[in-house]
Amino acid sequence: AAKDNGRGRYHFFSDDLHSAAEERSELERDLRDAIAKGSLQLYYQPVVQTSTERITGFEALLRWNHPTKGWLSPSKFVPIAEDTGLINAIGEWAIRTACHDLAGWPEDVCCAVNVSPLQFSNPQLPNVVTNAIAQAGIVARRLELEITESVFLNDDQGTDAMFAALKRVGVRLALDDFGTGYSSLGYLKKAPFDKIKIDQSFVRGATQPGSRNGAIIASITSLAQALGMDTTAEGVETMDELDLVRMHGCSHVQGYIYERPLSNVDATNRLKTGLAAVASGPRSARTLR
Ligand code: C2E
Ligand code: MG
Ligand code: MG
Ligand code: MG
Repeated sequence: AAKDNGRGRYHFFSDDLHSAAEERSELERDLRDAIAKGSLQLYYQPVVQTSTERITGFEALLRWNHPTKGWLSPSKFVPIAEDTGLINAIGEWAIRTACHDLAGWPEDVCCAVNVSPLQFSNPQLPNVVTNAIAQAGIVARRLELEITESVFLNDDQGTDAMFAALKRVGVRLALDDFGTGYSSLGYLKKAPFDKIKIDQSFVRGATQPGSRNGAIIASITSLAQALGMDTTAEGVETMDELDLVRMHGCSHVQGYIYERPLSNVDATNRLKTGLAAVASGPRSARTLR
């Protein structure tokens, strides 16, 4: 029995080690494989304009159906892709794919693609974007790049030069997850953003009594408005949250209340049919266009 215990413990430790470093290197290997086989996918979550309740665009989000682990969230594999540099290849593929899919949608529809800090410091990025746009035959303004505050951490001339180069290409720029990082107003002054995305952590709980989140959302939207920028509230799930971010002046909304990320086929259909009825909240479900 003692021996059995010993073996059991051995297995326990072995699994433990496995789940740390080994799982990471296995995922890295599988990720290289997925890139080579072209088995990563982009899903598209509708972005809805609050004043019209129309879909004005999508955010492209990476999806990976792992051969044994099933669907993996980007938060599981994007950090590995960043550490290993694989994000450059993945990110280029995402930009090309989004541009290709944009070409199949009406001209007033835009698409945002997430750009990691490593990609942003790669001098090839403007060329990658220019080529993807030219190959798809779309207008540059239809592509938006989402960047987080972390690109300002190594605040140097390279960052300024990259913003200037991307502006010359003509794409839109959005500041993602605003409020979760080092949110300095200085970034808003010097970087030419077209949009601020208010992180879902501010939306969550904003409807609770005594929450300060509503005041923060209102301040961000009025600041953005004064600077000529749009605001998207992220992660809006309930009717109360939708009412609140509308009241506080967010120009756009993204969240499960309207739609989850969709395959290209479903996203294309959704543009034709319009949004389905909003999930029943305090108010009865309504049909939205
Ligand atoms: P993000 O850019 O802030 O994307 C928004 C995340 O919120 C997405 O998670 C989306 O599915 C989720 N979301 C949207 N609406 C709701 C809602 O109503 N409730 C809740 N709880 N969540 C909602 P996802 O797809 O898991 O992506 C997570 C993060 O992974 C993204 O955060 C982004 O930072 C990163 N990511 C995704 N795709 C890419 C990519 O192509 N390149 C890079 N570099 N990063 C990516
Ligand atoms: Mg994003
Ligand atoms: Mg975000
Ligand atoms: Mg996020």
